[in-house]
Amino acid sequence: MAGIRISGLSKFYGGKDSGMAALTDLDLDIKDNQFVTLLGPSGCGKTTTLRLIAGYVMPDAGTIRVDDRVISSVDGVAPPDRRGMGMVFQNYAVWPHKTVFENVVFGLKLRKVPADEARRKVEETLALVNLAGLEARLPNELSGGQQQRVALARSLVVEPGILLLDEPLSNLDAKLRERMRVELKQLQRRTGITFVYVTHDQAEALALSDQIAVMHGGKLQQYGSPDEVYRRPANKIVADFMGIVNFLPGELRAGTGGAPVLVVDGVEMAAPVGSKLHAGQAVDLAVRPENVRISRLRESPDQLVARVTEHTYLGNLSEYWLELASGAVLRAQTHPLEPFQVGDEVHVSIDAGECSVFPQAAAATPM
Ligand code: ATP
Repeated sequence: MAGIRISGLSKFYGGKDSGMAALTDLDLDIKDNQFVTLLGPSGCGKTTTLRLIAGYVMPDAGTIRVDDRVISSVDGVAPPDRRGMGMVFQNYAVWPHKTVFENVVFGLKLRKVPADEARRKVEETLALVNLAGLEARLPNELSGGQQQRVALARSLVVEPGILLLDEPLSNLDAKLRERMRVELKQLQRRTGITFVYVTHDQAEALALSDQIAVMHGGKLQQYGSPDEVYRRPANKIVADFMGIVNFLPGELRAGTGGAPVLVVDGVEMAAPVGSKLHAGQAVDLAVRPENVRISRLRESPDQLVARVTEHTYLGNLSEYWLELASGAVLRAQTHPLEPFQVGDEVHVSIDAGECSVFPQAAAATPM
């Protein structure tokens, strides 16, 4: 098994002077036996990072170490087949004219593993990915999910310390994708292999990972557990990518006793904990729709007054679009006993403990 330490890694396609940075100064510590996901929108540098780890791309700066052994730096690189890593791609990459057995045994043959041992290893690996009994089938006699399992088995059979997976589920339909998610997670736990997984799908990243590296514009924005990234986004880019749709303008002020309070739409409310900000600072309050509560009557002084401008039925919940006195729009997802109507005046509570604040501009007086 193996951990990966990446320091100061940069990649410019077309050379350093091209100005086309695909990856800038990446530091990442991937612990042995973890499921780590590189998450971000298209073009943010996820695949470039994976290819640098695999050894298919040379870095322009920085180093990659596996268990303290430098495998990649500007001074030299270990070839991909000497890195002890397997790789699984989006498009299955199985040989169409070879049977499942022949596809999977390939890496063992290259390593000159004796035939009996190779057969046993292939069978064990096929059982691990739920393909036992399908050894003689050709890929076109398999479903998409089964073909992807063949690709997985082919990488796993040589017992890599690290498995690199580039959007391996994106060609599967939604239902199969969910099932394969669970299988992948179980596979990682059972084998203890370090998984580095690339996706742009935040739900997939949250479901699978021990740690998530959120990337944007070739830069690491946050590295943390799914809960940290979801509940404590480091900046607005992460918040936005993790599905926060409400950013309400507000201001931080020193409250009685010195504790910071937040003023939104002229109403004072408790500031989210841990906000390292300054008195008088203009901020955006990032609020998930599920952390907004609506009441018909005023229940407390920290409620905002709003008017319902739109109502969407979501099945188990309703989504309300609310316009505050300042004209700011707030989306709320809730399940009221008695539905609100467009035009209703309502009172809105925000669960500040579940929100984050981000600076709008340079800070004023430190608090
Ligand atoms: P996607 O999810 O669309 O695959 P990604 O996050 O994996 O995106 P990369 O493929 O790493 O992003 O690309 C990062 C940046 O580098 C992009 O701007 C891309 O256009 C550029 N890029 C990637 N590969 C090359 C290449 N071979 N030559 C030139 N530019 C490249």
